[in-house]
Amino acid sequence: MNMTKKDYLDYIELVTKKLEENRDYVTELDAATGDGDHWVNMNMGFQKLIASREALESLSLRDMFKKIGMLIMSTVGGSSGVLYGSAYIKASQAIGDNEVIDIPLLHAILEAKLTAIMERGNAKPGYKTMIDPLYTAAVRMKAGMEAGMDDTSIISEMKRGAVEGMEATRGMEAVKGRATYQTNKGVGCLDPGAVTMCYQLELLADCMKP
Ligand code: ADP
Ligand code: MG
Ligand code: MG
Repeated sequence: MNMTKKDYLDYIELVTKKLEENRDYVTELDAATGDGDHWVNMNMGFQKLIASREALESLSLRDMFKKIGMLIMSTVGGSSGVLYGSAYIKASQAIGDNEVIDIPLLHAILEAKLTAIMERGNAKPGYKTMIDPLYTAAVRMKAGMEAGMDDTSIISEMKRGAVEGMEATRGMEAVKGRATYQTNKGVGCLDPGAVTMCYQLELLADCMKP
């Protein structure tokens, strides 16, 4: 299974639609444990990417990822802007000269994003952040690859990991981010950044073509 640059740009449109459909839900999640702007931040970034589609399409896959990172970094305020910006810029380095994303490259991209977000946010899995679904997705994906699963099963493992990591944030005490200011550290609430990361991972998996 794989995806081209055009498939990736279609994926960005699907994420934007998914965000649009979940505006109130995501806003309420960030209002419960943070400052309520997570949806606005993410939406602003993705709207900017959609508006830049033509410019992005003319670049190599590597440069497109780099440009996406720079656009997010310059458009999106809050933690998500710098974290997603760094993630895309680091992922562009993993892409090298490839013009198609296959399963091993997709895994390398997830690993690069994970490393960038962990470094930039000085955070780890288990801290109740956007890292959790990304980490579990990458771990499940890798296990599937090492077990010799077929591509479809590896991709379902990735999706399953994303949902598991997102759901696990409900029981976690926040170690980073605004939920740490809550007296109960956000226990009982999903982390908004984990929810939008999970959307992105699920749609990315759906956009891998046979
Ligand atoms: P802000 O918190 O600055 O208002 P957003 O609301 O856009 O920014 O994003 C909040 C999300 O960012 C959190 O739900 C969490 O998933 C993620 N996050 C916050 N701080 C960190 C960090 N240090 N490392 C990783 N992720 C973080
Ligand atoms: Mg916020
Ligand atoms: Mg904010």
